[in-house]
Amino acid sequence: MKRKTVVITGGAGFIGSHLCDRFIQEGFRVICLDNFITGSKDNIMHLFDERDFRLVEHNVTKHIEIKERIDYILHFASPASPQDYLKYPIQTLKAGSLGTLNTLGLAKEKKARFMLASTSEVYGDPLEHPQRESYWGNVNPVGVRGCYDEAKRFAEAMTMAYHRVHKIDTKIARIFNTYGPRMRINDGRVVPNFIYQAIENKPLTAYGTGRQTRSFCYIDDLIEGLFRLMQADINEPVNLGNPREFSVLELARLVIKLTASGSKIVFKPAPEDDPKQRLPDITMAKRVLKWQPRINLEEGLIMTIPYFKNKIDIHLLANCPRKA
Ligand code: UDP
Repeated sequence: MKRKTVVITGGAGFIGSHLCDRFIQEGFRVICLDNFITGSKDNIMHLFDERDFRLVEHNVTKHIEIKERIDYILHFASPASPQDYLKYPIQTLKAGSLGTLNTLGLAKEKKARFMLASTSEVYGDPLEHPQRESYWGNVNPVGVRGCYDEAKRFAEAMTMAYHRVHKIDTKIARIFNTYGPRMRINDGRVVPNFIYQAIENKPLTAYGTGRQTRSFCYIDDLIEGLFRLMQADINEPVNLGNPREFSVLELARLVIKLTASGSKIVFKPAPEDDPKQRLPDITMAKRVLKWQPRINLEEGLIMTIPYFKNKIDIHLLANCPRKA
């Protein structure tokens, strides 16, 4: 049988690059699209010698033209950390709207299966807890997070429309907080911030009361869920995340313990529209994908901390003044 080809937009990003790895391991030909606004060549450099890996530097908000046959398209291109989408609100809106339109157009042309990387942010600051896929959310469209939340809500609507009208086999993954190696140290999210601060013996910055909650999914668990979803017979959105809830303060204490750090915790003002609680109901993923996370937060952090230690060391070496 001929090898299947997959296009992964945002393939040089945190989740995208792990997806590239997985599809290469599974024997696919991988075409990685990225414009490097938040992605990095460091995340995919190890794939450059692979015969079945191709990098195309491209902005998904522009028309995408690929000559060859394509079987799967995974649209993962978008700034995804609150700090990034606050910095690039228009690019974020364009990646979710025009980027989704262009990738769906490509899926239609190639008769390819399509997956949208959606997000728990579609639930906004949720009034229902935990969040089931049937919940419509509580989003402030004109707030500072609106650029991401509404772009992804639009992207979901567009995906369903292409499914209904053009009969494309589409998948929507609602991804909850995920962490692991290849996150940028300075991407502003809570896990890299806390690990960096703890390693450097700087105070850990808890925003607001620190009592707001999230659930943290290790990257390998998420990739397994995404891979299963791609093969599954379902077109409705599916939550993918870890069903164990932690407060920000609990996370801070755990990171301090695991890094044996002398850091204290300090409080900083809460960001605008910061969701107060977030927890996925993963009943659907368990039933349809036979999937649930296997790696708990402590185990996942133990696998993540050395990556950040290494990055900090490389950074220090690079900035060390050379001896004459
Ligand atoms: N947060 C924090 N300190 C930090 C970074 C984030 O207390 O240095 C909080 C943030 O206010 C939010 C939670 O951690 O309540 C998760 O934030 P993150 O940016 O990781 O992602 P979000 O879930 O908000 O998209």
